[in-house]
Amino acid sequence: MRVTILGSGSEGNALLLESRTTSVLVDAGLSHRKLVQRFEAIGREPPTNVAAVIVTHSHSDHAAHASTYATRLCCPVRASEDTIASIRLRPSVRTQTFTAGKRFALGDITIHSLSIPHDVPQVALRFETSTTSIGLVTDLGHVPKGLAAFVSECETLLLESNHDPDMLAEGPYPTMLKRRVSGSHGHLSNGQASDLLAGLAHLPKRVVLMHLSETNNSPRLARSSAEAVLGHRGTELFLAHQQEPLELGPRLELQMQLGL
Ligand SMILES: [Zn+2]
Ligand SMILES: [Zn+2]
Repeated sequence: MRVTILGSGSEGNALLLESRTTSVLVDAGLSHRKLVQRFEAIGREPPTNVAAVIVTHSHSDHAAHASTYATRLCCPVRASEDTIASIRLRPSVRTQTFTAGKRFALGDITIHSLSIPHDVPQVALRFETSTTSIGLVTDLGHVPKGLAAFVSECETLLLESNHDPDMLAEGPYPTMLKRRVSGSHGHLSNGQASDLLAGLAHLPKRVVLMHLSETNNSPRLARSSAEAVLGHRGTELFLAHQQEPLELGPRLELQMQLGL
């Protein structure tokens, strides 16, 4: 499966997953214009055949443009019942729900979900094909019981590493917002992310640090916190960016040309 992260952070999230048969957009926090620009930046056309726009939760940095994506791509918006109920969608948009903890399939991709602690209903997702497994874990205040097991077999793990606690404490955010971000239903710190990695039975082949705060974190701090756990144990480490796309995995066209 190829993963293309179009943008990650509090100003907007969207990523595209592509298996051999099926494409799925996950989160719709970037405007459609920006989405197109991000694909152009990596020399690609935006997708036209998408099975669904999956929305992890109702916050606008994940859900604001769900109607536009679904309308332009002629596909449904799929989310938990709580999330569908609390996002504003145009009446013409088709919706489908899923229940956290129950798997569902889109083409050859099976999607598993797990409720995780945030200040609105939120899920971690795991996308599986016959050959690989990708975990997406962002927007959570702490690592709940069961999450390590949920992602322990993932080949690729997209994991929130939102803030450095000292930078957050000393930074410009108002006290209420500092409390929200660092609270048990806010966002995962660098240290909490690396603690989760340290507790995994198997390390993923690839880890992508996601949803880094541009105010309360630095790429250097996030990277060094994860590297302290991953060391030289063969896991590739990447950082997702708010403004620039990141593409992981083989180009499907290339696979097809080579008959792989
Ligand atoms: Zn977010
Ligand atoms: Zn959120």
